[in-house]
Amino acid sequence: MTQQQWRIEVDRGTCIGSGMCTGIAPDHFTLVDGRSAPISQTPDDAVLDAAESCPVEAILVRAAESGAILAPQQ
Ligand code: SF4
Repeated sequence: MTQQQWRIEVDRGTCIGSGMCTGIAPDHFTLVDGRSAPISQTPDDAVLDAAESCPVEAILVRAAESGAILAPQQ
């Protein structure tokens, strides 16, 4: 079975640069000019944790194919 691909997005207008996501998932997020940016689209549970932990819910993780939201939980 092929692993499902994800689409990981950060709303840079909403991000407050708390650095929570870069701490939880350093392989997937980095701070650029004080705002988070995704650096990898590779599926990883740490990305879901980061999306759930973001204080302003600026991270959106979708299944690339269906577009279904995987995190944060609504
Ligand atoms: S956790 Fe949210 S607010 Fe904090 S840096 Fe990441 S995207 Fe921005």
